[in-house]
Amino acid sequence: RSKQRGRHGYTLFNQELRRDQADQLALEAELRHALTNDYELVPYYQAIVDSQTGRLAGFETLVRWHHPQRGMISPSVFMPMAEESGLILKLDRYMIERACAQLAAWYAEGQLSNEVCLHINLSSTHFHDRSLLDWLLPMLGQYGLPAGTLHLEVTESALIDVPELAISVMKQLKEQGVCLALDDFGTGYSALSYLHRYQFDVLKIDQAFVREVHCQEESVAIVRAILALAAALGLEVVAEGVETEVQVRALRELGCTRLQGYFFARPAPAEMLDWDRLHGRDRSNHAMLSA
Ligand code: C2E
Ligand code: MG
Ligand code: MG
Ligand code: MG
Repeated sequence: RSKQRGRHGYTLFNQELRRDQADQLALEAELRHALTNDYELVPYYQAIVDSQTGRLAGFETLVRWHHPQRGMISPSVFMPMAEESGLILKLDRYMIERACAQLAAWYAEGQLSNEVCLHINLSSTHFHDRSLLDWLLPMLGQYGLPAGTLHLEVTESALIDVPELAISVMKQLKEQGVCLALDDFGTGYSALSYLHRYQFDVLKIDQAFVREVHCQEESVAIVRAILALAAALGLEVVAEGVETEVQVRALRELGCTRLQGYFFARPAPAEMLDWDRLHGRDRSNHAMLSA
């Protein structure tokens, strides 16, 4: 009996595994296809604001996949497959191109008066060779965007595989004026020497610390330490995942200059952005931002 059950369980497991693998392969083929049209993969934009004035300081671009059959798929579902298959290289390039075109259009329409930076998430795979350098800078030139507009967000884990090559590629990006941001700071390996070696301009404090910054002593201590470190190294700091007004107040008091999160704006496609709110023309929200 138990043997039978065991065999049954095993079969079920195998079937599920096979279905998973088949599903992953199907998803991969579908992503490959999505990269050939311009409606399935959509850049969403989330505001980054100045913590003192509530003014728009930049946008982070986050990919959304509007799958024709499966519906909306979040990056956490397809990013691992995109990374494994190598499709992430195409996907990131596609997102950067769309976002740069969008930013140039906003400037042309007069939607953005001051200089607003564009944060783009970049997979570590881009640092496995030098090809990023060949297409990224010409693309910026093509859209008439100064290199300093672009802030490339990478995570710490990105830097562990190929430290020497990554350092050299990032150094060249920096020489051309591109800014580098370390994403999810505090959750990875947090080798502090990285900050200096990779010449980052910006640290993004992970939402894990932001979540409890108004109530938990440990989180406060960590955020305070990150801000002190950043100040000593001359880095800008963005706090991610800010959802409530008490968090805003706590972060502002600690001296964090840039904030991002649902409290200010959810990620939205270009045509859904609320410009009145982003520019503080909506009085109620402006009062809220500068409270
Ligand atoms: P991330 O770069 O750390 O982005 C922050 C994530 O937190 C995003 O999730 C964002 O939608 C979410 N978020 C923003 N504000 C809040 C908030 O107030 N509360 C909460 N709970 N969450 C908030 P999302 O869009 O699902 O993206 C997940 C991750 O996928 C990103 O983390 C990034 O690592 C990756 N990713 C997204 N788009 C791209 C892309 O185009 N290329 C690459 N290589 N990675 C991407
Ligand atoms: Mg990011
Ligand atoms: Mg992050
Ligand atoms: Mg993240």
